Amino acid sequence: MRLHDLTRAMINGSTTGPAPGVDRDMSNAMPPRALPLLDNDNTAYWTGGANAELLIHRCSDCGYYVHPPVNFCPDCEGRKVAPHPVSGKGTVETFTVVHQQWVPGLKVPYVLALVTIAEQDGVRLAGNIVNCEPEEVSFGMPVKVLFEQNEDVWVPLFEPDPDAGAA
Ligand SMILES: [Zn+2]
Repeated sequence: MRLHDLTRAMINGSTTGPAPGVDRDMSNAMPPRALPLLDNDNTAYWTGGANAELLIHRCSDCGYYVHPPVNFCPDCEGRKVAPHPVSGKGTVETFTVVHQQWVPGLKVPYVLALVTIAEQDGVRLAGNIVNCEPEEVSFGMPVKVLFEQNEDVWVPLFEPDPDAGAA
């Protein structure tokens, strides 16, 4: 899935899976999230949370992290790219506060952000910032990952990192 597709899906509150209300039970208390369609490349990213791991594709030849996940290293053109657990720490690259309730039951306002992982500049993950007020979110804020299970997907979310010192 391309990053901008994910971002759009999150903003729209839509999913790439079954249409809401068709097969998906939205009646539980879990706030609806954009659930991705899993494929060979992105399954590790979306299910690593089952083991509390944030898995980012990494080239075993040169160590370059590749995201969105593809089976090809754009840095050295190698093909030995495989999911690799990262620290889950990062910083808020950019964010927007969403006030529009696109999906019934979705609590607003919420924060949609791009988070740069600590391991490599330029690797940006789209996700919500949770466990803080939207007005507390700032550019460059240290965050760490947490996961929210929705069916067979563990959606990576981010919260303020208390271990990162003064933000
Ligand atoms: Zn490489």
